[in-house]
Amino acid sequence: MTAKYNPQEIEKKWQERWAKDKLYEVTEDDPRPKWYALTMFPYTSGDLHIGHWYAMAPSDVHARFKRLQGYNVLHPMGFDAFGLPAENAAIKRGIHPFAWTMQNVDNMRRQLKSMGAIYDWNREVITCQPEYYKWTEWFFLKLYEAGLAYRAKAPVNWCPHCQTVLANEQVIEGFCERCGAAVVRRDLEQWFFRITKYADELMEHNGIDWPERIKIMQRNWVGKSVGTEISFALDQPGVDEKEIKVFTTRPDTTFGVTFMVLAPEHPLVAKLTSPEKEAEVENYIAQSRRQTEIERLSTEKEKDGVFIGTYCINRLNGEKVPIWIADYVLLAYGTGAVMGVPAHDERDFAFAKKYNLPIPVVIAPPDWQREELDEAYIETGTMVNSGQFNGLPSQQGIEAVSDFLEKNGWGKRTVTYKLRDWLISRQRYWGAPIPMIYCPDCGIVPVPEEDLPVLLPEDAEFKPTGESPLKYHDQFVNTTCPRCGSPAKRETDTMDTFMCSSWYFLRYASPGCDSAAFDNRMQYWLPVDLYTGGAEHAVMHLFYARFFIKALRDMGLVDFGEPFTRLFNQGIIIAEKQKMSKSRGNVITPDEYVSELGADAVRAYLMFVAPWEQGGEWNDSGISGISRWLNRLWKLVLTSYNWDKFSRDTAKAERDIYRIAHQTIRKVTNDLENIHFNTMIAILMEFTNHLSKAKELGAITPSCWKWCRDNLLLLLAPTAPHLAEELWQETEHDYSIHNQRWPKWDETLVSDEQITLVVQVNGKLRDRTIVPVSITETEAKQIALERERVKTSLKGKEIVKVIYVPGRLVNLVVR
Ligand SMILES: [Zn+2]
Ligand SMILES: [Zn+2]
Repeated sequence: MTAKYNPQEIEKKWQERWAKDKLYEVTEDDPRPKWYALTMFPYTSGDLHIGHWYAMAPSDVHARFKRLQGYNVLHPMGFDAFGLPAENAAIKRGIHPFAWTMQNVDNMRRQLKSMGAIYDWNREVITCQPEYYKWTEWFFLKLYEAGLAYRAKAPVNWCPHCQTVLANEQVIEGFCERCGAAVVRRDLEQWFFRITKYADELMEHNGIDWPERIKIMQRNWVGKSVGTEISFALDQPGVDEKEIKVFTTRPDTTFGVTFMVLAPEHPLVAKLTSPEKEAEVENYIAQSRRQTEIERLSTEKEKDGVFIGTYCINRLNGEKVPIWIADYVLLAYGTGAVMGVPAHDERDFAFAKKYNLPIPVVIAPPDWQREELDEAYIETGTMVNSGQFNGLPSQQGIEAVSDFLEKNGWGKRTVTYKLRDWLISRQRYWGAPIPMIYCPDCGIVPVPEEDLPVLLPEDAEFKPTGESPLKYHDQFVNTTCPRCGSPAKRETDTMDTFMCSSWYFLRYASPGCDSAAFDNRMQYWLPVDLYTGGAEHAVMHLFYARFFIKALRDMGLVDFGEPFTRLFNQGIIIAEKQKMSKSRGNVITPDEYVSELGADAVRAYLMFVAPWEQGGEWNDSGISGISRWLNRLWKLVLTSYNWDKFSRDTAKAERDIYRIAHQTIRKVTNDLENIHFNTMIAILMEFTNHLSKAKELGAITPSCWKWCRDNLLLLLAPTAPHLAEELWQETEHDYSIHNQRWPKWDETLVSDEQITLVVQVNGKLRDRTIVPVSITETEAKQIALERERVKTSLKGKEIVKVIYVPGRLVNLVVR
């Protein structure tokens, strides 16, 4: 009697054995080709939910597959541990962020271990530990030395709820990416990384295999536009400035300018406002200050503004252009001034209608009869009402107007980017300290490398006040200048946690290295061969990490420019038709399913539930079905095989089962390679059914049975590693199945699909027979003539003609 499948028992047993044998530990002196399979490391927010497993289990299956294929596979795991969410959660619970984070790490590590992944835990990184953030600080110094880190006063995104500034990437349509609060703008002295230096390169994704939509999001985020900067003349008594600059991608519309709009914060506003407009203008500025960027840019909001009482000159036609202020123009973007071309811009059209400003057409739409426009015409067309440029098509006009402006010194062709430098200062406690010192005599002085790490003091009062908590920690703040020895003060802001995650994948490849951030083992593993994680990181982590590596490349620290050769984004798992959330109470925790049905069932179900890139809905009956399959498979493998020695069908049955087996190997291999995990599981289930049927019939020989069964186990091994290992042992193989070679299919057997060949005599059906699809005409005729029933009907007749319809029939014409 076979023992019952008991996943709890066998999973625990094999996990212990693998750990004891160091089965998945990897080294760099391995003759096999390397494969670096990386999963985005989890944030230490608490328990793992099924969404984490959805990111991690299928990527482990793929990494195991590469391992069986003969690669030396590094598949590491660690924890992204600094940052706001951990700190906020700790504050809420009244515990220290370090204690809270490490408690989460322990729990998450335990949960991850229960998954049975091939993580080499010797390589774990935890970003909030001094042995890690020492090097985060070191990278800051390197970026500073390279001129890529600088301090500047700038209007920044301030989250009033999180009490800190945010990077542009962390502001989602005007709201804080972490807490959802509306972001306001503030002027602050902050540290920036010069990511804009790499703007062009970050738009290129040469030689890397990334999803198209991520590439598009990154390109849009850089937001390169090629256009012309145009200078409008100012001639205001008592005002030094003699021009207002605007940027446009459509210089061909410049003759259509009927107003100029400045951002309310524009420094020229105070100087240019006429005395009688002062009160109105001040009022408007005060009102716009109360609004967030999101409110100002909202498409629903009616665009309003105020005329400030003065004019500039459009140099192309000498016309006076009234100057307005409107809060839909932001100082932080472009020049803070926009030329109003109402006939050819939707927003300007609405603005001109509202304030009764003229709307002259300067780009003629097709078939235009000089009539007024009902809406803005924003396409290209033919230039009209444009002086010497009349009749030029827009594309030519753009060049001609730009040439003319440049020749006269009234403008220049220029490229603008939406991308801004990466703001990395955070006025919060829980982050890596910025290793900088302010000396009254020497100014900004970097902490010498040998003094790293600048330790984050554990005894600081960490509750957010709007100012960096470290400011109030005297022992931390007060230091001596490394250059002159005078009393000096430390920088008290901490680094954006995205800095920590910009290089963690390098550290995995140099575990325990205490003399550098990484050593030459890193060169062996990097770049990452396959990186998997959520698409929500498109313009944050994935963008920053690319910048970071390009900067290191230019410093000569690494010899590659792209960290992740192939990127794959999995979808998300929902429950009860909705995204999982604690407040909805629909969070699926893997632990209960692991203890009830086993990690292998959870892994296989996550592979099966939907195409991985799409994601799907968790369903209890779905995982029960998977569990039943694994139980069937268990019985199938462990009950003895009874061969019917007298079966006449042995040859055909074996031919069939070998064909199916080779087809299965091919399909499973291709599906794993192409990350089509759900169809791969379906194929394995079908193969299980075929083997059950074959076993029932007992026609195939025991050696054929064993061959098929062993291959089923090998194909199952990445998905259900514990079950496959147990059954491998129970079928008297050497430990471990995970050190075997991935099965290969025989192409000739795979293509051996069969067809029914019809044999006719004078057009009448005489027989049917199964033949390989690849049969030739000669072979087909030969087979037809040898059939017993055909021979009978041919007796005493003469064959005058043989008609062959390929793949279908042979017709013998006789007399
Ligand atoms: Zn916030
Ligand atoms: Zn000094």
